[in-house]
Amino acid sequence: MNKVNSDFIKNIIKIRDEEPIDDNGHSYLICDTCNKQLADIWITHIDVPIITNISAHCPYCNKLYTIDNIKGSYYLGTTDDVVHSKVDTNITKNDDILIQKIYIKTEQR
Ligand SMILES: [Zn+2]
Repeated sequence: MNKVNSDFIKNIIKIRDEEPIDDNGHSYLICDTCNKQLADIWITHIDVPIITNISAHCPYCNKLYTIDNIKGSYYLGTTDDVVHSKVDTNITKNDDILIQKIYIKTEQR
């Protein structure tokens, strides 16, 4: 695992927080067994060098679902079906790209 350079992170945060939002639409993490939405992922800055994998267990059937290769920065939202009681983030850097693995602990609404 490479050490994450703090200037690199600061630049990403600066773009995310200061550049105008570039609405690249929503992706939803969905349980296809229960047809429940587990997370709402709104891509706001697609040019930010972050790639994210987001996983969550469905709190209705306990199956694990993942969305891979989300490009850019985003807002992670709850849905009408679940709340997020905890979000674990694991960050590594690969060349000039930040790799994030997110695990969301969900609960039924
Ligand atoms: Zn389910």
